[in-house]
Amino acid sequence: MKKTALLILIVCLMCLSGCTTEKQSFLFGTIVSVRLEGGKAYKARDAIFGMLEDYERTLSPDIEGSDVYRINHSEANTPVQVSDVTLFLLREAKRVFVESGGAFNPAMRALSELWGFPGGLTRVPAKEEIDGILPYCSMDYVVIDEVKSVVTRLSEYTKIDLGGIAKGYFADKSYETACEHGVGRAVLNIGGNIYMAGSGTIAISHPRADGEFFGLLRVSDVSVVTSGDYERYFEAEGKRYHHILAPDGYPSRSGLVSVTVIGKNSTVCDALATAVMVLGEECGEELMRNYPDLMFITVSEQKTCSVWNDKGIFELSDESYSVTYRK
Ligand code: AMP
Ligand code: MG
Repeated sequence: MKKTALLILIVCLMCLSGCTTEKQSFLFGTIVSVRLEGGKAYKARDAIFGMLEDYERTLSPDIEGSDVYRINHSEANTPVQVSDVTLFLLREAKRVFVESGGAFNPAMRALSELWGFPGGLTRVPAKEEIDGILPYCSMDYVVIDEVKSVVTRLSEYTKIDLGGIAKGYFADKSYETACEHGVGRAVLNIGGNIYMAGSGTIAISHPRADGEFFGLLRVSDVSVVTSGDYERYFEAEGKRYHHILAPDGYPSRSGLVSVTVIGKNSTVCDALATAVMVLGEECGEELMRNYPDLMFITVSEQKTCSVWNDKGIFELSDESYSVTYRK
C-alpha cells in the first residue's frame, strides 16, 4: 500500500515538474527526431508527428497524389490545384530563387533524377542529357497563381522538389506546436534542420568525419540549419558527386563543403544554406547581406571556416581547421 502511494506521489511530482518524451521516425526520406521537456510534452509530440505526416502527404514528390507529385506529373500548361502550404513554400522558394540569381532552384527535380539521387541509383549523366533539359529546370517555368490556388508548369521537363526548403518549414511549425503546448525545452531535429526551444547546445556535423562534430553552438529559441556536400553523395572514377546542384546542372563546386545558417525563421535559413553552398563564400556573402540578423558559418575544402555576424555562441571542435570571424 505504502509502495503504491509512493509511486503515485512520484508520478504526480513528475507531472507537476513536466514530462519528457522523445521520438524518432523516418519522414521525407530523412530521420526526424524530437525531444520535448515540460508542459504538455506528450500531446505536443503527437501533434508534431501528426502534422509532419500530413505535410509529407502533401509535399513529397514521391507520394502519389501529393501536390508536388501532381504538379510533376501534370500536362504542361495545365493548372494544378494545390493547398496553402504548397503555395506558401513555392512562393518563398521562388523569392530566394530570384534573389540568389537561380542558385537556389527547386525546379531541378528532373536533373536530380538524371543523377539518380531521388531513387538512389546514382550515375554520372552525359553532358547532352543535362544540357537537353537544363533550360526547363527553372522557376521561370513554374507559374504560381495565389488567387486561384493553382500551379502550372510550362514544360514537362520542369519538376519541383522542395527538399531544399521544406525541412526548415517543418522545423518552424514543430517549434510553434511545441510552444502552443507550453513545452519548456525542446530539440526538434528535422533531418539536420534543428529548432531549439529554450536553451541548449547544438552540434554541427563534421563535413569530413562521419558521426563526429565540427563545432558547437550555444543557442536559445532559434533554428540551426546546415547544408553540406556530405549529406548525400556518390563516387565515380575517383570523383565525388553530391546532391546539391548548381545552375549548370552539375553538383556545386563552389569550394564550400558545408554552410550553417542560424536564425528565427528556419524556412528562410534552409533555403539560404542551400543557396550559399551553391554560390560559394564570396557571392554567398553578398546574398547574406540582405539578412543582416542571420549568423552563418561556411566551411571550405581548404579546411578554413568563416563565421559571419558572430554572436559569441560558436566553438570550433576540430582544431585542424582555421577560423576567421567576419562582420
Ligand atoms: P539541403 O539539404 O537543404 O541543402 O537541400 C538539398 C536538397 O534540395 C537536395 O536533396 C535536392 O532535393 C534539392 N536541391 C538540390 N539542389 C538544389 C538547389 N540548387 N536549389 C534548391 N534545392 C536543391
Ligand atoms: Mg536547404
